[in-house]
Amino acid sequence: MRNKSNTIYKKACAAIPGGVNSPVRSFSGVGIDPMIVDSGCKDVIFDVDGNQYIDYCGSWGPLILGHAHPAIIQAAHEQMQKGLSFGISTEVEQLLAEEIVRLVPSIEKIRFVTSGTEATMTALRIARGCTSRHKILKFTGNYHGHSDALLVQAGSGVLSINSRATSLGVTPGAIDDTLILPYNDIAALRLFFQSEITQGLAAVIVEPVAGNMGVVPPIEGFLETLRCETQRVGALLIFDEVITGFRLGLTGAQGLYDIDPDLTCFGKVIGGGMPVAAVGGKARYMDCLAPIGGVYQAGTLAGNPVAMRVGLEMLRWLQKDGVYEQLEAKSRRLTDPISEALEGKNASLQRVGSMFTIFLGANRVRNHKDLSVLDKQRYARFFNYLFNRGIYIPPAQQEAWFVSLAHTERHLDYTAESVCSFFYEEK
Ligand SMILES: *Cc1c(COP(=O)(O)O)cnc(C)c1O
Repeated sequence: MRNKSNTIYKKACAAIPGGVNSPVRSFSGVGIDPMIVDSGCKDVIFDVDGNQYIDYCGSWGPLILGHAHPAIIQAAHEQMQKGLSFGISTEVEQLLAEEIVRLVPSIEKIRFVTSGTEATMTALRIARGCTSRHKILKFTGNYHGHSDALLVQAGSGVLSINSRATSLGVTPGAIDDTLILPYNDIAALRLFFQSEITQGLAAVIVEPVAGNMGVVPPIEGFLETLRCETQRVGALLIFDEVITGFRLGLTGAQGLYDIDPDLTCFGKVIGGGMPVAAVGGKARYMDCLAPIGGVYQAGTLAGNPVAMRVGLEMLRWLQKDGVYEQLEAKSRRLTDPISEALEGKNASLQRVGSMFTIFLGANRVRNHKDLSVLDKQRYARFFNYLFNRGIYIPPAQQEAWFVSLAHTERHLDYTAESVCSFFYEEK
């Protein structure tokens, strides 16, 4: 029974475009009306009709400790008593900044913003401001939020660096300055870096582990080539670690693959569920920001004390002994049996740490082009099969599932069994 959900959704559609405040929440690919959530506890969410679901979306990544973790809630509560916002500096933002600078070797300075979109937008502006160059390079299938310059994908022809907007309302100027290459294509990368266009290149922005075309790890040499070539042509390398930062370990993907980027964008996990994101990196670039330098960036609610306090509590938890080992063990417990069951089923599971995707219709995904064979109808059946068994997975195939520290072995085993039985029963 989802009567209350459906009623609320209908009313929401009258007042909010499509009834949602972010498009992917509309469940448009899975053939049912979206759920309206009421609350969450540990690894479970409850909808307004009282149905419960084991949650593998985790608010799209932030909730690495699960829902309503008592320490997080208490920290927020304590801080809230002091007032919600001042627009004046507080000690807690200094503490969170110091913590991240201490933990991540490439970060010498950091500035907090309120969304990943803002973080990437600011990183690009810093790069352009520091280099006095205009062009940026991004990769097809990587997502960096919804600022104009980044809502651009490759045009036709794999090696053409012509691009087109993925949204109406993006100006030709923004498109012209954004160059596009396929992800994980080292040959294309080398060819590009031999061209003269790199003289105008301010930065390359990349998801070091792609999470927004489903989970796609970088092939060996891809990130290394990027680091080497950007350095050679004097462009900045920006790691968008909005998903991977503090998800894949305390030093994120850059620690895992041992790469030293110039700037890094954080989001999701560092806010623990509050609207927090950040851009950080080498001091010589970060000091280009106003009030020291000439690159302007600002935010009324940036560094909000409640959000900072939650972020700080989150990072303290993540430094406890064995946290990431535990996440890895939970992730394996869930995915190992599934990977086995997928053999010969024209599907695959790709995982890095506690993030993974099950691709239906593809045996391997290395870049955006490989997504063209994905079976959307099959995914809709898969989603509904699990949803009806009380398991909530991303309502779109090209997204990551997230395992949290709150997932119990019982729920992980039940989920693995349910996923496997979908593939056995399928005809
Ligand atoms: C989620 C995400 C963003 C955008 O963050 P918002 O807070 O939604 O604006 C940017 N980059 C990556 C890699 C993301 O996953």
